[in-house]
Amino acid sequence: MDVLVLGSSYAGLATVHKLRKFLKDINITIISKSRIVRENTIFPLLLTNDIYIKDTEFDAKNVVESKGVNFIEGEVLEIYPNSREVKTNKGIYDYDYLFLALGGGYEENFRKIPGNEYAVMHHTLEGFLRLKDLLYKSEGNIFVGNAKSSPIEGPSYQVALISEYILRRRGVKSKVYLSTQSPKGIFGNIPNEEVISKANSYFKKRGIEVLAGKTVKEIKKDRVVLSDGTEIEAEVKSILPALSAPETVKRSELVDDSGFVNVSLPSFRKDERIFGLGDLAKTPLPRTARNAMISAENAVSTLLKDLRGVSLPMYGLGVLCVMEGGDDGGIFRMEKGKAFLEFDRHFITIKKMYSRMLVRSGFDMPFHGAPHI
Ligand SMILES: Cc1cc2nc3c(=O)[nH]c(=O)nc-3n(C[C@H](O)[C@H](O)[C@H](O)COP(=O)(O)OP(=O)(O)OC[C@H]3O[C@@H](n4cnc5c(N)ncnc54)[C@H](O)[C@@H]3O)c2cc1C
Repeated sequence: MDVLVLGSSYAGLATVHKLRKFLKDINITIISKSRIVRENTIFPLLLTNDIYIKDTEFDAKNVVESKGVNFIEGEVLEIYPNSREVKTNKGIYDYDYLFLALGGGYEENFRKIPGNEYAVMHHTLEGFLRLKDLLYKSEGNIFVGNAKSSPIEGPSYQVALISEYILRRRGVKSKVYLSTQSPKGIFGNIPNEEVISKANSYFKKRGIEVLAGKTVKEIKKDRVVLSDGTEIEAEVKSILPALSAPETVKRSELVDDSGFVNVSLPSFRKDERIFGLGDLAKTPLPRTARNAMISAENAVSTLLKDLRGVSLPMYGLGVLCVMEGGDDGGIFRMEKGKAFLEFDRHFITIKKMYSRMLVRSGFDMPFHGAPHI
Protein backbone atom coordinates (compact mmCIF):
# COMPACT_ATOMS: atom_id res chain seq x y z
CA MET A 1 0.00 0.00 0.00
CA ASP A 2 1.33 3.45 -0.94
CA VAL A 3 0.60 6.48 1.20
CA LEU A 4 1.61 9.88 -0.11
CA VAL A 5 1.89 12.91 2.16
CA LEU A 6 2.24 16.34 0.54
CA GLY A 7 3.95 19.00 2.69
CA SER A 8 6.40 18.43 5.52
CA SER A 9 5.41 20.76 8.29
CA TYR A 10 3.20 20.37 11.39
CA ALA A 11 0.39 18.46 9.63
CA GLY A 12 2.52 16.44 7.19
CA LEU A 13 5.16 15.33 9.68
CA ALA A 14 2.64 14.53 12.43
CA THR A 15 0.89 12.32 9.85
CA VAL A 16 4.06 10.48 8.94
CA HIS A 17 5.14 9.88 12.55
CA LYS A 18 1.79 8.42 13.53
CA LEU A 19 1.36 6.36 10.35
CA ARG A 20 4.77 4.78 10.81
CA LYS A 21 4.17 4.15 14.50
CA PHE A 22 1.09 2.04 13.77
CA LEU A 23 1.72 0.73 10.24
CA LYS A 24 5.19 -0.75 9.82
CA ASP A 25 4.46 -2.51 6.54
CA ILE A 26 3.27 0.27 4.21
CA ASN A 27 5.21 2.52 1.83
CA ILE A 28 5.12 6.12 2.98
CA THR A 29 6.46 8.97 0.86
CA ILE A 30 6.45 12.61 1.87
CA ILE A 31 7.04 15.33 -0.72
CA SER A 32 7.90 18.89 0.21
CA LYS A 33 9.66 21.91 -1.27
CA SER A 34 12.48 21.88 1.24
CA ARG A 35 14.00 19.30 3.56
CA ILE A 36 14.71 22.12 6.02
CA VAL A 37 11.60 22.72 8.11
CA ARG A 38 11.07 25.66 10.46
CA GLU A 39 8.97 25.87 13.61
CA ASN A 40 7.29 29.13 12.64
CA THR A 41 5.15 29.75 15.74
CA ILE A 42 8.31 30.88 17.55
CA PHE A 43 9.35 33.39 14.84
CA PRO A 44 8.15 36.44 16.86
CA LEU A 45 11.01 35.75 19.32
CA LEU A 46 13.48 36.37 16.46
CA LEU A 47 12.47 40.03 16.72
CA THR A 48 13.85 40.30 20.26
CA ASN A 49 16.90 38.05 19.77
CA ASP A 50 15.40 35.55 22.24
CA ILE A 51 16.06 32.81 19.69
CA TYR A 52 18.24 32.35 16.62
CA ILE A 53 17.18 31.01 13.22
CA LYS A 54 19.05 27.76 13.86
CA ASP A 55 16.87 27.16 16.94
CA THR A 56 13.79 27.01 14.71
CA GLU A 57 14.92 24.52 12.08
CA PHE A 58 15.60 20.85 11.50
CA ASP A 59 16.25 18.49 8.60
CA ALA A 60 12.99 16.63 7.93
CA LYS A 61 14.59 14.26 5.43
CA ASN A 62 16.93 12.91 8.11
CA VAL A 63 14.07 12.67 10.62
CA VAL A 64 11.72 10.64 8.42
CA GLU A 65 14.31 8.53 6.62
CA SER A 66 15.47 7.23 10.01
CA LYS A 67 11.95 5.76 10.25
CA GLY A 68 11.99 4.18 6.80
CA VAL A 69 9.90 6.90 5.14
CA ASN A 70 10.90 8.29 1.71
CA PHE A 71 11.47 12.03 1.60
CA ILE A 72 11.31 13.72 -1.81
CA GLU A 73 12.54 17.31 -1.88
CA GLY A 74 10.39 18.59 -4.71
CA GLU A 75 7.57 20.86 -5.72
CA VAL A 76 4.03 19.55 -6.08
CA LEU A 77 2.68 20.84 -9.40
CA GLU A 78 -0.65 19.08 -9.97
CA ILE A 79 -2.90 16.68 -8.08
CA TYR A 80 -5.06 14.27 -10.11
CA PRO A 81 -7.60 12.64 -7.75
CA ASN A 82 -9.28 10.64 -10.55
CA SER A 83 -6.13 8.77 -11.56
CA ARG A 84 -4.69 8.93 -7.99
CA GLU A 85 -1.51 10.63 -9.15
CA VAL A 86 0.52 13.64 -8.10
CA LYS A 87 2.78 15.44 -10.55
CA THR A 88 5.93 17.03 -9.13
CA ASN A 89 9.09 18.51 -10.60
CA LYS A 90 10.75 15.21 -9.60
CA GLY A 91 8.29 12.96 -11.42
CA ILE A 92 4.82 11.48 -11.01
CA TYR A 93 3.81 9.60 -7.85
CA ASP A 94 0.71 7.47 -7.43
CA TYR A 95 -1.03 6.64 -4.20
CA ASP A 96 -3.62 4.53 -2.46
CA TYR A 97 -4.16 7.21 0.19
CA LEU A 98 -3.26 10.89 -0.03
CA PHE A 99 -2.74 13.35 2.83
CA LEU A 100 -2.79 16.98 1.71
CA ALA A 101 -0.71 19.08 4.11
CA LEU A 102 0.54 21.92 1.89
CA GLY A 103 -0.52 24.70 4.28
CA GLY A 104 -2.30 27.89 3.29
CA GLY A 105 -1.47 30.05 0.28
CA TYR A 106 -0.06 32.90 2.40
CA GLU A 107 2.37 34.33 -0.12
CA GLU A 108 0.03 34.20 -3.12
CA ASN A 109 -2.73 35.88 -1.09
CA PHE A 110 -0.35 38.52 0.27
CA ARG A 111 0.62 39.43 -3.30
CA LYS A 112 -3.06 40.15 -4.04
CA ILE A 113 -3.17 43.05 -1.51
CA PRO A 114 -2.78 46.31 -3.48
CA GLY A 115 0.51 47.96 -2.52
CA ASN A 116 1.89 44.85 -0.79
CA GLU A 117 5.40 45.90 -1.84
CA TYR A 118 5.26 48.60 0.86
CA ALA A 119 4.53 46.06 3.61
CA VAL A 120 5.99 42.94 5.18
CA MET A 121 4.10 39.74 5.94
CA HIS A 122 4.70 38.39 9.45
CA HIS A 123 4.48 34.76 8.40
CA THR A 124 7.63 33.71 6.59
CA LEU A 125 11.16 33.82 7.97
CA GLU A 126 12.03 36.43 5.34
CA GLY A 127 9.07 38.54 6.49
CA PHE A 128 10.21 38.43 10.11
CA LEU A 129 13.81 39.30 9.22
CA ARG A 130 12.67 42.31 7.19
CA LEU A 131 10.35 43.37 9.99
CA LYS A 132 13.13 43.09 12.54
CA ASP A 133 15.39 45.28 10.47
CA LEU A 134 12.65 47.93 10.15
CA LEU A 135 11.65 47.87 13.82
CA TYR A 136 15.18 48.68 14.98
CA LYS A 137 15.59 51.50 12.41
CA SER A 138 12.21 53.15 12.15
CA GLU A 139 11.36 56.44 13.86
CA GLY A 140 7.79 56.42 12.49
CA ASN A 141 4.51 54.71 13.38
CA ILE A 142 4.06 50.95 13.18
CA PHE A 143 0.88 49.42 11.78
CA VAL A 144 0.01 45.74 12.31
CA GLY A 145 -3.15 44.16 10.93
CA ASN A 146 -4.94 41.57 8.87
CA ALA A 147 -6.73 41.61 5.54
CA LYS A 148 -10.42 40.63 5.49
CA SER A 149 -11.07 36.91 6.13
CA SER A 150 -7.63 36.27 7.55
CA PRO A 151 -8.00 33.10 9.65
CA ILE A 152 -5.49 33.84 12.41
CA GLU A 153 -4.93 37.09 14.32
CA GLY A 154 -2.70 35.82 17.15
CA PRO A 155 0.57 36.52 15.28
CA SER A 156 -0.59 40.12 14.70
CA TYR A 157 -1.26 40.60 18.42
CA GLN A 158 2.25 39.35 19.18
CA VAL A 159 3.89 41.53 16.55
CA ALA A 160 2.07 44.61 17.89
CA LEU A 161 3.17 43.90 21.49
CA ILE A 162 6.77 43.23 20.48
CA SER A 163 6.83 46.36 18.31
CA GLU A 164 5.69 48.44 21.30
CA TYR A 165 8.43 46.84 23.42
CA ILE A 166 11.16 47.52 20.85
CA LEU A 167 10.10 51.16 20.37
CA ARG A 168 9.96 51.63 24.17
CA ARG A 169 13.46 50.21 24.60
CA ARG A 170 14.77 52.39 21.80
CA GLY A 171 13.14 55.46 23.37
CA VAL A 172 11.14 56.14 20.18
CA LYS A 173 7.82 57.87 20.86
CA SER A 174 5.94 56.74 17.71
CA LYS A 175 2.61 54.91 17.84
CA VAL A 176 1.79 51.25 17.36
CA TYR A 177 -1.58 50.58 15.68
CA LEU A 178 -3.27 47.18 15.61
CA SER A 179 -6.37 46.58 13.52
CA THR A 180 -8.69 43.69 14.40
CA GLN A 181 -11.37 42.09 12.26
CA SER A 182 -13.89 42.03 15.09
CA PRO A 183 -15.59 45.30 16.10
CA LYS A 184 -15.03 44.13 19.69
CA GLY A 185 -11.25 44.29 19.27
CA ILE A 186 -8.71 41.76 20.56
CA PHE A 187 -10.15 38.21 20.70
CA GLY A 188 -13.44 39.90 19.77
CA ASN A 189 -14.83 36.81 18.05
CA ILE A 190 -14.52 34.70 21.22
CA PRO A 191 -17.86 34.21 22.99
CA ASN A 192 -16.52 35.44 26.33
CA GLU A 193 -16.90 39.13 27.25
CA GLU A 194 -14.51 38.86 30.22
CA VAL A 195 -11.67 37.65 27.99
CA ILE A 196 -12.36 40.35 25.40
CA SER A 197 -12.41 43.09 28.02
CA LYS A 198 -9.23 41.82 29.70
CA ALA A 199 -7.41 41.58 26.36
CA ASN A 200 -8.40 45.05 25.20
CA SER A 201 -7.48 46.63 28.56
CA TYR A 202 -4.08 44.97 28.39
CA PHE A 203 -3.30 46.28 24.90
CA LYS A 204 -4.48 49.74 25.96
CA LYS A 205 -2.20 49.60 29.01
CA ARG A 206 0.68 48.77 26.67
CA GLY A 207 -0.13 51.95 24.71
CA ILE A 208 -1.25 50.14 21.54
CA GLU A 209 -4.06 51.81 19.63
CA VAL A 210 -6.56 49.13 18.64
CA LEU A 211 -8.53 49.88 15.46
CA ALA A 212 -11.45 47.53 16.03
CA GLY A 213 -13.55 46.12 13.20
CA LYS A 214 -11.23 47.32 10.43
CA THR A 215 -9.29 45.29 7.90
CA VAL A 216 -6.52 46.22 5.50
CA LYS A 217 -7.77 47.22 2.05
CA GLU A 218 -4.71 48.81 0.49
CA ILE A 219 -1.18 49.77 1.41
CA LYS A 220 0.49 52.96 0.25
CA LYS A 221 4.09 54.03 0.68
CA ASP A 222 3.48 55.95 3.90
CA ARG A 223 0.02 54.76 5.01
CA VAL A 224 -2.51 51.95 5.22
CA VAL A 225 -6.04 52.28 3.85
CA LEU A 226 -8.56 50.39 5.97
CA SER A 227 -11.90 48.82 5.07
CA ASP A 228 -13.91 51.85 6.27
CA GLY A 229 -11.72 54.27 4.30
CA THR A 230 -9.66 55.39 7.34
CA GLU A 231 -6.04 56.08 6.43
CA ILE A 232 -3.34 55.40 9.03
CA GLU A 233 0.06 56.97 8.59
CA ALA A 234 2.76 54.37 9.23
CA GLU A 235 6.37 53.82 8.29
CA VAL A 236 6.32 50.08 9.07
CA LYS A 237 3.36 48.04 7.86
CA SER A 238 3.14 44.37 8.86
CA ILE A 239 0.21 42.42 7.48
CA LEU A 240 -1.35 38.96 7.37
CA PRO A 241 -3.44 38.30 4.24
CA ALA A 242 -6.73 36.52 3.67
CA LEU A 243 -6.18 32.82 3.24
CA SER A 244 -7.13 29.91 1.01
CA ALA A 245 -5.65 26.56 0.07
CA PRO A 246 -2.63 27.01 -2.24
CA GLU A 247 -3.28 27.34 -6.00
CA THR A 248 -1.94 23.82 -6.65
CA VAL A 249 -4.70 22.38 -4.47
CA LYS A 250 -7.33 24.73 -5.88
CA ARG A 251 -6.54 23.56 -9.42
CA SER A 252 -7.23 19.97 -8.38
CA GLU A 253 -10.88 20.89 -7.76
CA LEU A 254 -10.63 19.55 -4.23
CA VAL A 255 -11.62 22.94 -2.78
CA ASP A 256 -15.10 24.42 -2.54
CA ASP A 257 -16.23 28.06 -2.89
CA SER A 258 -14.61 28.95 0.43
CA GLY A 259 -11.20 28.30 -1.16
CA PHE A 260 -10.45 25.50 1.33
CA VAL A 261 -10.70 21.70 1.17
CA ASN A 262 -14.11 20.83 2.54
CA VAL A 263 -13.47 17.91 4.90
CA SER A 264 -15.65 16.03 7.36
CA LEU A 265 -14.85 16.81 10.97
CA PRO A 266 -13.30 15.53 13.16
CA SER A 267 -11.78 13.01 10.68
CA PHE A 268 -10.48 15.62 8.18
CA ARG A 269 -11.47 13.19 5.46
CA LYS A 270 -12.22 14.64 2.05
CA ASP A 271 -13.24 11.36 0.42
CA GLU A 272 -12.42 7.68 0.67
CA ARG A 273 -8.78 8.16 -0.42
CA ILE A 274 -7.96 11.76 0.49
CA PHE A 275 -7.52 13.69 3.75
CA GLY A 276 -7.16 17.49 3.87
CA LEU A 277 -5.13 18.71 6.84
CA GLY A 278 -3.94 21.82 8.62
CA ASP A 279 -4.20 25.29 7.14
CA LEU A 280 -5.77 24.11 3.86
CA ALA A 281 -8.75 22.40 5.53
CA LYS A 282 -12.09 24.13 6.00
CA THR A 283 -12.76 24.42 9.74
CA PRO A 284 -14.62 26.97 11.85
CA LEU A 285 -11.54 27.66 14.02
CA PRO A 286 -8.33 29.66 13.52
CA ARG A 287 -5.69 27.96 11.38
CA THR A 288 -3.01 27.00 13.90
CA ALA A 289 -0.09 24.61 14.19
CA ARG A 290 -1.82 22.84 17.04
CA ASN A 291 -4.97 22.30 14.99
CA ALA A 292 -2.78 21.16 12.07
CA MET A 293 -1.24 18.45 14.28
CA ILE A 294 -4.63 17.48 15.69
CA SER A 295 -5.98 17.18 12.12
CA ALA A 296 -3.15 14.73 11.38
CA GLU A 297 -3.89 12.73 14.55
CA ASN A 298 -7.57 12.42 13.71
CA ALA A 299 -7.01 11.64 10.02
CA VAL A 300 -4.52 8.84 10.73
CA SER A 301 -6.76 7.41 13.46
CA THR A 302 -9.63 7.37 10.95
CA LEU A 303 -7.54 5.49 8.39
CA LEU A 304 -6.27 3.05 11.02
CA LYS A 305 -9.81 2.22 11.99
CA ASP A 306 -10.68 1.51 8.34
CA LEU A 307 -7.60 -0.56 7.59
CA ARG A 308 -6.99 -2.41 10.85
CA GLY A 309 -10.08 -1.86 12.96
CA VAL A 310 -7.96 -0.08 15.61
CA SER A 311 -9.83 2.51 17.69
CA LEU A 312 -7.70 5.45 18.80
CA PRO A 313 -8.88 8.65 20.51
CA MET A 314 -10.03 11.55 18.36
CA TYR A 315 -9.24 15.09 19.53
CA GLY A 316 -11.39 18.20 19.61
CA LEU A 317 -10.17 21.35 17.90
CA GLY A 318 -9.63 24.39 20.06
CA VAL A 319 -7.28 27.32 20.50
CA LEU A 320 -4.11 27.39 22.59
CA CYS A 321 -2.05 30.45 21.88
CA VAL A 322 0.99 31.55 23.85
CA MET A 323 1.69 35.19 23.08
CA GLU A 324 5.15 36.64 23.02
CA GLY A 325 5.03 40.30 23.95
CA GLY A 326 8.58 41.56 24.45
CA ASP A 327 9.08 41.82 28.23
CA ASP A 328 5.73 40.15 28.94
CA GLY A 329 3.74 37.24 27.60
CA GLY A 330 0.29 35.74 27.69
CA ILE A 331 -1.67 32.57 27.18
CA PHE A 332 -5.10 32.17 25.63
CA ARG A 333 -6.94 28.88 25.65
CA MET A 334 -10.36 27.92 24.39
CA GLU A 335 -11.77 24.39 24.44
CA LYS A 336 -15.40 23.36 24.23
CA GLY A 337 -16.56 26.99 24.39
CA LYS A 338 -14.64 27.77 27.62
CA ALA A 339 -12.04 30.52 27.32
CA PHE A 340 -9.13 31.57 29.52
CA LEU A 341 -6.62 34.43 29.20
CA GLU A 342 -3.68 35.28 31.46
CA PHE A 343 -0.64 37.53 31.10
CA ASP A 344 2.72 36.60 32.63
CA ARG A 345 6.21 36.77 31.13
CA HIS A 346 6.95 33.18 32.22
CA PHE A 347 4.63 31.90 29.50
CA ILE A 348 7.35 32.87 27.03
CA THR A 349 9.69 30.37 28.68
CA ILE A 350 7.04 27.65 28.31
CA LYS A 351 6.64 28.52 24.65
CA LYS A 352 10.39 28.35 24.08
CA MET A 353 10.54 24.95 25.78
CA TYR A 354 7.66 23.57 23.73
CA SER A 355 9.17 24.93 20.54
CA ARG A 356 12.47 23.28 21.42
CA MET A 357 10.71 19.94 21.86
CA LEU A 358 8.91 20.34 18.53
CA VAL A 359 12.19 21.02 16.73
CA ARG A 360 14.13 18.28 18.51
CA SER A 361 11.46 15.67 17.76
CA GLY A 362 10.86 16.77 14.16
CA PHE A 363 7.22 17.56 15.08
CA ASP A 364 6.70 14.16 16.70
CA MET A 365 4.84 15.61 19.70
CA PRO A 366 1.57 13.70 20.05
CA PHE A 367 0.42 15.58 23.15
CA HIS A 368 -1.61 18.65 22.22
CA GLY A 369 -3.38 19.31 25.52
CA ALA A 370 -6.62 18.77 23.61
CA PRO A 371 -9.72 17.01 24.94
CA HIS A 372 -10.70 13.62 23.55
CA ILE A 373 -14.04 13.51 21.77
C1 LIG B 1 4.25 34.18 13.44
C2 LIG B 1 3.31 33.05 13.59
C3 LIG B 1 2.95 32.65 14.85
C4 LIG B 1 2.08 31.58 15.01
N1 LIG B 1 1.77 31.19 16.27
C5 LIG B 1 1.04 30.08 16.45
C6 LIG B 1 0.84 29.57 17.77
O1 LIG B 1 1.26 30.16 18.77
N2 LIG B 1 0.16 28.41 17.91
C7 LIG B 1 -0.32 27.73 16.83
O2 LIG B 1 -0.90 26.65 17.02
N3 LIG B 1 -0.16 28.20 15.55
C8 LIG B 1 0.51 29.35 15.34
N4 LIG B 1 0.72 29.82 14.06
C9 LIG B 1 0.05 29.17 12.90
C10 LIG B 1 0.81 27.97 12.36
O3 LIG B 1 2.14 28.29 12.17
C11 LIG B 1 0.17 27.42 11.08
O4 LIG B 1 -1.18 27.19 11.34
C12 LIG B 1 0.88 26.13 10.65
O5 LIG B 1 2.11 26.44 10.05
C13 LIG B 1 0.04 25.29 9.68
O6 LIG B 1 0.70 24.07 9.48
P1 LIG B 1 0.50 23.21 8.15
O7 LIG B 1 1.26 21.95 8.36
O8 LIG B 1 -0.94 23.13 7.81
O9 LIG B 1 1.14 24.09 6.97
P2 LIG B 1 2.54 24.80 6.81
O10 LIG B 1 3.25 24.93 8.10
O11 LIG B 1 2.28 26.05 6.04
O12 LIG B 1 3.38 23.79 5.90
C14 LIG B 1 3.11 23.54 4.55
C15 LIG B 1 4.26 22.74 3.96
O13 LIG B 1 3.98 22.44 2.59
C16 LIG B 1 5.08 22.81 1.78
N5 LIG B 1 4.56 23.17 0.46
C17 LIG B 1 3.64 24.12 0.17
N6 LIG B 1 3.38 24.13 -1.15
C18 LIG B 1 4.14 23.17 -1.69
C19 LIG B 1 4.29 22.66 -3.02
N7 LIG B 1 3.61 23.15 -4.05
N8 LIG B 1 5.16 21.66 -3.21
C20 LIG B 1 5.86 21.12 -2.18
N9 LIG B 1 5.74 21.54 -0.92
C21 LIG B 1 4.90 22.55 -0.67
C22 LIG B 1 5.72 23.97 2.51
O14 LIG B 1 7.05 24.16 2.09
C23 LIG B 1 5.59 23.50 3.96
O15 LIG B 1 6.61 22.61 4.31
C24 LIG B 1 1.57 30.90 13.87
C25 LIG B 1 1.94 31.31 12.59
C26 LIG B 1 2.80 32.37 12.45
C27 LIG B 1 3.23 32.80 11.10
